[in-house]
Amino acid sequence: MAQALPGFGGELIGPGDDGYDGYREVWNAMVDRRPALIARCTSAGDVAAAIRHAREAGLEVAVKCGGHSVLGLSVPDGGLMIDLGPMADVRVEVDRRRATVGGGALLRYLDQATVPHGLATTAGNVSHTGVGGLTLGGGMGWLARQAGLACDNVEAYTLVTANGEVLRATATEHPDLFWGLRGGGGNFGVVTEFEFRLHPVSGRALMAELIFEADDALEPMRRWRDLLPDAPRPSCLTADAVTMQGRPMVSIGYVWVGDPGEARDYLATMRGIGTPARESVRETSYIELQTMGDANHVHGKRRYATGHYLRDLSDAAIEAFLSRGVSAADGVDWSRVSPGGFQAYGGAIAEVGNDDSAFSHRDAVVEFFGGHTWTDPAEDAERMASARAYGAALAPFASGVYVNALFESGEEGVRRAYGDAKLARLAELKRRYDPQNVFHLNQNIAPGGISPRP
Ligand SMILES: Cc1cc2nc3c(=O)[nH]c(=O)nc-3n(C[C@H](O)[C@H](O)[C@H](O)COP(=O)(O)OP(=O)(O)OC[C@H]3O[C@@H](n4cnc5c(N)ncnc54)[C@H](O)[C@@H]3O)c2cc1C
Repeated sequence: MAQALPGFGGELIGPGDDGYDGYREVWNAMVDRRPALIARCTSAGDVAAAIRHAREAGLEVAVKCGGHSVLGLSVPDGGLMIDLGPMADVRVEVDRRRATVGGGALLRYLDQATVPHGLATTAGNVSHTGVGGLTLGGGMGWLARQAGLACDNVEAYTLVTANGEVLRATATEHPDLFWGLRGGGGNFGVVTEFEFRLHPVSGRALMAELIFEADDALEPMRRWRDLLPDAPRPSCLTADAVTMQGRPMVSIGYVWVGDPGEARDYLATMRGIGTPARESVRETSYIELQTMGDANHVHGKRRYATGHYLRDLSDAAIEAFLSRGVSAADGVDWSRVSPGGFQAYGGAIAEVGNDDSAFSHRDAVVEFFGGHTWTDPAEDAERMASARAYGAALAPFASGVYVNALFESGEEGVRRAYGDAKLARLAELKRRYDPQNVFHLNQNIAPGGISPRP
């Protein structure tokens, strides 16, 4: 049984204690790390006590919210894991259109608390993802083109810094930190509360998919690309290159959050891209939309992916997307080839100035995400190679990457996520708030900056 810590009122769990394996488990089954101590925190005071103890004992610190870091960065091997799971309350102030959300909440807690009041803010597409990691990295979701990224909707952050101080960061209090927390990840402290702005929502959504044989998809993809600049704000255009019954297929369409009548009106425009092999149009509630991806993304499977932002979607980029990283298609077993997708950016995301937040690449037209899910460790090398090949095919067209979509750690990814100029500003902030780099189990912004580009 783990020993008590001064000033700590939560639960301490060590190897051999009940629940240890459950708490150290994360979404990606490729991660299997064993913390020396898990501090299940219930307050900012607990977080401060846990940080103090880790520093005195020389333990590495990691911070866990939803455990969806694909690299398992929330679990330290032999270190102290700050588990924010017990800090998951959501308080909604309907009149002020605000939600105060605990740093350990999952996205579904947020939606479930706000949507019954006809209010919502941008949250990601899988409801068991953590508000913490998603929002600190940016936070893309179906509402983002109309309401901005999750981080664009945070009015205030309460955080515990590396020296145990509790600070509030807003546009006027510690504005430098506020800037860095909007996209800079978990580098500057442990956020114990987010205060989100909420927006009126109808609670309705519609998904339209036009499904083509991959061989017939080039022209429809070009026309879909041409719709991107003028796509209505409630829509988020999507394209997915997948395998159905062993055949390479492409599903092209949109997700619409808002009035279903307007959503259906847009079908005529979308149908102008070409005649699909089949079509699927589904009206649903917003809450159902937000949980629809949950089953496909269950915990406990092995995962690897690659991601890119693209600010132009050239014909060559579309061809690379359709190739899925396969150079000669003859005899290919498509069930073993990584699927991938594009999701549209623009709208309210692009209206925030690129220098106004740590989050970068607001000029992206689409985000590409390609990756595999499997269960047998014997397939690791093959599956990872396939996802890497897909990523490599799109790399020549990339303008950057979403920090929350990085499947590798290290300087190169961080540089791609922020760019040199912003990294210099982020490193300065890191020196101010975490000069010893206590919070380094993340996509790390080193206090000394990163090495010059080779
Ligand atoms: C199935 C799935 C679906 C996804 N869908 C989307 C999506 O639709 N949109 C999108 O933008 N992203 C999406 N992502 C990416 C997601 O944003 C990142 O994986 C994110 O890191 C997950 O956050 P978490 O809290 O669940 O992860 P955790 O592993 O708990 O945390 C990740 C890192 O975030 C930091 N962190 C977390 N909480 C705090 C906190 N309160 N204070 C300080 N630091 C903290 C820590 O550095 C930690 O290492 C998805 C990921 C998965 C696995």
